[in-house]
Amino acid sequence: MSVSAAGKKSTPLGIRAKKSLGQHFLKDSRIAKQIVEAAIPGPDEIVIEVGPGTGSLTRLLAERFGRVIAVEIDHRLSDLLTTDLSDLPRVQVVTGDVREFPPQALLKSHGGQLPGKRAGYKVVGNLPYYVASPIIRHFLESDCKPTKMVVMVQKEVAENMVAKPGKTGLLSLAVQVYGAPSIVIRVPASKFRPKPKVNSAVVAIDVYPEPLVSDPARFFNLARAGFRAPRKQLHNSLVQGLETEAEVVRSALDRIGIDGRRRPSTLTIEEWDKLSEVLA
Ligand code: SAM
Repeated sequence: MSVSAAGKKSTPLGIRAKKSLGQHFLKDSRIAKQIVEAAIPGPDEIVIEVGPGTGSLTRLLAERFGRVIAVEIDHRLSDLLTTDLSDLPRVQVVTGDVREFPPQALLKSHGGQLPGKRAGYKVVGNLPYYVASPIIRHFLESDCKPTKMVVMVQKEVAENMVAKPGKTGLLSLAVQVYGAPSIVIRVPASKFRPKPKVNSAVVAIDVYPEPLVSDPARFFNLARAGFRAPRKQLHNSLVQGLETEAEVVRSALDRIGIDGRRRPSTLTIEEWDKLSEVLA
């Protein structure tokens, strides 16, 4: 870790890391390479990098992708990166909160020629922990979805993303309705500076051309209600979450043959989908 004249811990660019922005910088270049390769880069591909920070992934991405759009919220870092990467015309550094940019707007302004509806871009990032799930959902729920996402997140979040029925939560559904996630590598806290309190994992999501459910809004309204009391039996959690009569829930569950004593975490996407149709 570099130490500034004032004796404070600082990033490789000499900037003090802001914990409030989830700034834990990857210091292992082998892991950075594994992340980039997991995205299956190509010279004609566009990649949006979320939170380039000090640029440890950005240069590698620029070597392997046709264009890199790197969105960084901290203007101290984006200003420095813009200068530092000025030798790389393929990299566009954008300052701001990535959730405020619809992907199609980023691609249109910074990606060169805009491809069709399914734009064929990818998303890569060592995500800030505090906002990792909303950032993932921002891309998966957009009208212009990536074909693949490769993201570093807290280990427990990664496990939740890939969980199978029996252990699923809302985030599992929020990811698995839109794509097939898998854990690429587990990364210990010691690989970052400053060192976070938690371990991490890299998750790759192969995004489906269409979501697995016909009406995601209806599907997630029900799933959110069902997971409001995740430890209760499904029947009770739905009555509470939907603020409806016990009889309405009982007859819907009976109609599709789901035992109301099961826990919300045991339902498959297909079962949530059928239930949301019957309860609509
Ligand atoms: N990519 C760098 C690395 O691997 O060393 C930095 C990763 S660090 C975990 C997360 C980065 O995301 C920080 O640079 C932080 O400033 C940035 N960030 C935090 N919230 C953001 C947001 N909403 N939009 C864009 N960038 C964000």
